[in-house]
Amino acid sequence: MLLGALEAGGTKMVMAVGNEYGEILMQSSIPTETPDLTMNRIINYFSDKKIAALGVGSFGPVDLDRNSKSYGFITSTPKKSWVNYNLLETLKALQIPIGFDTDVNASVLGEATWGCLKDLSSGVYITIGTGIGAGVMINGNLLHGMLHPEVGHMLLTRHEKDDYSGICPYHPNCFEGLASGPSIEMRWGRKAIDLQDHPEVWELEAFYIAQGLVNIILTYSPHRIILGGGVMHQKQLFPMIRSQVLRLLNGYIKTPQLTNPDEYIVPASLKDNQGILGCLELAKRELLLDR
Ligand SMILES: [Zn+2]
Repeated sequence: MLLGALEAGGTKMVMAVGNEYGEILMQSSIPTETPDLTMNRIINYFSDKKIAALGVGSFGPVDLDRNSKSYGFITSTPKKSWVNYNLLETLKALQIPIGFDTDVNASVLGEATWGCLKDLSSGVYITIGTGIGAGVMINGNLLHGMLHPEVGHMLLTRHEKDDYSGICPYHPNCFEGLASGPSIEMRWGRKAIDLQDHPEVWELEAFYIAQGLVNIILTYSPHRIILGGGVMHQKQLFPMIRSQVLRLLNGYIKTPQLTNPDEYIVPASLKDNQGILGCLELAKRELLLDR
């Protein structure tokens, strides 16, 4: 059975055709331009692929409430031409079942189906890149709620020596504002990738990421936390984050997972395909619902 996957990102759209076993058979990507231009290309791509269903993991915020009038809309995104855009309705031109969720929920689902969350009932996937966001799986289900988790905007305590104002237009001290890729670039005047040999950059970055993780550990109590996204390609961050998390928790929580942080706070395990693979699983789940 062929399934379609669309990872709808703010800068690019990744489209793939695969199957229910998590095999990607073909993949292509296009830049995210205006909805008119971009959506036409997406529909053209999928229209002759004989897919039984499509799974979409979208940038957001998005409306995931199936009973809402704006279900399937991208809502208040900073990308102006996509504000209040009915993504799902446009894709219905394909006349197949469409599973719809956030890009990060697709990633956590990909890891839960084929990656390092397999056999665990709860876990969190956090992307730290152009933005920061998290997909949350609780007892095998993707967490939605009132909207969906917006972990990237949780408020953090600023480092006493950091007077940088952050890049979030809404909050002076949120996770994304202080620790996303563009935030690193603005603070230090160079791209993160060119700052590899500057330990102070990564110590500060780990300081903020660890605060985010501690809040997530204390609220969602995940069995494992996966860190993906461009910034997390800096592998030197992992040991720094793990030790800062333990320092901040200060011995309060005692679980087997926290005594073995190398297996608790881990890199994404699907070679950066966790999102697109999660979209395949979203497609499969939608097909089963539809039957
Ligand atoms: Zn913010």
